[in-house]
Amino acid sequence: MATVLMFHRVLPEKLIKTPNAYTDFGTLISQEYLSEILQWLTDNKYKFIKISDIINYVNVDKILALTFDDGYADNFHYAYPILKKYNATATFFPLVSNSLENCVLPLDTYYQCVDELDLNENERRNYIKGDIKNKFYWAEPQIQRDMLKTLFNNLPKESRVDYMTVEQLIELSNNNFEIGSHGVSHSLLIADYMTEEKIISEMKNSKKWLESVIKKAVIAYCFPAGLYNYDMIKLAKKIGYKSVCLITKKDNIKPVLPAYTRFFVKPNSLDELKVQLNILNFN
Ligand SMILES: [Zn+2]
Repeated sequence: MATVLMFHRVLPEKLIKTPNAYTDFGTLISQEYLSEILQWLTDNKYKFIKISDIINYVNVDKILALTFDDGYADNFHYAYPILKKYNATATFFPLVSNSLENCVLPLDTYYQCVDELDLNENERRNYIKGDIKNKFYWAEPQIQRDMLKTLFNNLPKESRVDYMTVEQLIELSNNNFEIGSHGVSHSLLIADYMTEEKIISEMKNSKKWLESVIKKAVIAYCFPAGLYNYDMIKLAKKIGYKSVCLITKKDNIKPVLPAYTRFFVKPNSLDELKVQLNILNFN
């Protein structure tokens, strides 16, 4: 069975400003580090496949599927060249709110503001992994926008992140990379504010929009933050997805679609990954 790796943002080391909330949370690694990981995997004879091809490699060893969540433009500028260099394919799970609604993801503004605050280590942890972050993370995107105004004095006029453009998504899709859906707005599907109608619209509208862009069927869905329940996998199937990506599996019920757990590649996680891959190889 393939191992699935989860990446988010990728930037050259020299462009990573500190302090950096993404690095601290684990959702930003350096381009040099991505290169090191791919070099190690290539040296160790791993083969890279797309998420939707996993079902064709069930009994094959040393198979990896690389996934990139959230659709940042840095994926195109800095991960894509490295992937090409190592002849590795991957699956990208962009959000579509930026293209559909022309808005910055509230979490991106939040991280940008946090990095501009003068905080001690404890305060910073609270903003990135603690209660303040949790309260923000679990709020509806519209509420998050209001929260930003009360949490921070000055909101940035310009976002420091960009998302992949239509042209970039098309180029990836035309070059043997898979485009899957991560929903529209990164709403957490199990959050209190979600209704079945909202869940369906996240899954359906993102699929529809991406398909209109890449002119191919979008059949892989990735749950924002890996948060899901069994009924949501059933909905994904009904909407036309053929597999779902999670982070960890939370129950033993056999889902109605292939559901893949993923190894979260954070800064300095290569040793942990080696351990995990060795364990998988022995089984
Ligand atoms: Zn995400």
